[in-house]
Amino acid sequence: MKKPKVLHNFYKSPAWLAARELKIVSVNSLCERCGQIGIEVHHKERLSFDNVYDSSVSLNQDNLELLCRDCHNKEHKRFSKEVRFDKDGNLLNPEKPK
Ligand SMILES: [Zn+2]
Ligand SMILES: [Zn+2]
Repeated sequence: MKKPKVLHNFYKSPAWLAARELKIVSVNSLCERCGQIGIEVHHKERLSFDNVYDSSVSLNQDNLELLCRDCHNKEHKRFSKEVRFDKDGNLLNPEKPK
């Protein structure tokens, strides 16, 4: 199976849709950061090809956060700001491979 498809399929799975729905209901559809209407469910621990089938990460309510689009964008931009370059101008990945 091609890797990008793994995540794509996950987001279409009934198990994810149910977990997502449960999260939204549990916080009354409000963004957990600013209190606006939340529409996007964010994974605090980022989903990867390695943990997407680990339901303690991918489907764990404690790992989910309902965000509005603004807060969700900020969350992900904050990470991209951590991108650094080495002295030769090569991109350093903030999540360094082990
Ligand atoms: Zn928000
Ligand atoms: Zn997110």
